[in-house]
Amino acid sequence: MRVAFIGLGNMGGGMAARQASNQRSVAAFDLSRAALDRALAAGCGEAASAAEAVRDAEVVITMLPAGAHVRSLYGEAVLANAPKSALLIDCSTIDVDSARAVGEQARAAGFRFADAPVSGGTAAADAGTLTFMVGCDEADFADIEAALQPMAKAIVRAGDVGAGQAAKICNNMLLGVSMLGVAEAFNLAEALGLDAERFFEISSKASGQCWSMTSYCPVPGPVPAAPSNRNFEGGFAVAMMLKDLKLAQEAAAKAGASTPMGAQAEALYALFDRLGYAGKDFSAVIRMLNGRLEGLA
Ligand code: NAD
Repeated sequence: MRVAFIGLGNMGGGMAARQASNQRSVAAFDLSRAALDRALAAGCGEAASAAEAVRDAEVVITMLPAGAHVRSLYGEAVLANAPKSALLIDCSTIDVDSARAVGEQARAAGFRFADAPVSGGTAAADAGTLTFMVGCDEADFADIEAALQPMAKAIVRAGDVGAGQAAKICNNMLLGVSMLGVAEAFNLAEALGLDAERFFEISSKASGQCWSMTSYCPVPGPVPAAPSNRNFEGGFAVAMMLKDLKLAQEAAAKAGASTPMGAQAEALYALFDRLGYAGKDFSAVIRMLNGRLEGLA
């Protein structure tokens, strides 16, 4: 399978490497020389431009920062240069409107297109254990699954084009809200003299149980692999959570959905970001809520 891979950053670098290590011929391109060099070291081939990368491709995968990048790359390079038979898959996290607009342009130009944002961070990208949420025509899903398989733990079709992005921002809005709830609960438990380990033992088996508590506990100790045990380094950055919460609020405003908890989560993560903690794991928000920011930066 000949794969064009454009956007070789923190996520795309590992994903392109997974394609190459699964005996696929990968034509890789990124505006950053350093990102491109990492992909070459992982077995990808170099393309001089995005246009060159897609020219001979059977599958085109993009992993870019935001909607504006995806719109312009598709408009300027992908649609004009890829063979019409190529399967186009955008794995970036972008706004639903951009995904639908690019999908519409691709369809009008005679291409098959999917939005396929991912859940899982850079470790999952490197290991090939991402979860993909796919928006595509039902008839295209089997081919999309085959294309994504070396990078995936799970691949779920969410619905038509745009539905992958919708699933992603709904999930991450829930994650942002649930983390704030778990953080508040641990802070209240402490204020009431309740031991954190005991509270975890109880709540993780009671109705407060959720992923933010049992897989990603913001208090160090109960979940050894959680970023709270390593001063909130690595993990899922506050800036990334804020980006997804903003996308959720924009989508909610356009769709007329009432999401007051999501709005509150966006405001709190925007404040945390502004205080200088954009690069910290998002579960560190517990330290803003309890006022113990010393030693965190
Ligand atoms: P990143 O900034 O590390 O990588 C983006 C790459 O795209 C950069 O290397 C940049 O040079 C390149 N790029 C930008 N415009 C380009 C263009 N026109 N042509 C070629 N290359 C171009 O970002 P990332 O962390 O890899 O995230 C990528 C996407 O994945 C984002 O949409 C993000 O929201 C999403 N995502 C990230 C994570 C995470 O944990 N990092 C998790 C899930 C989803």
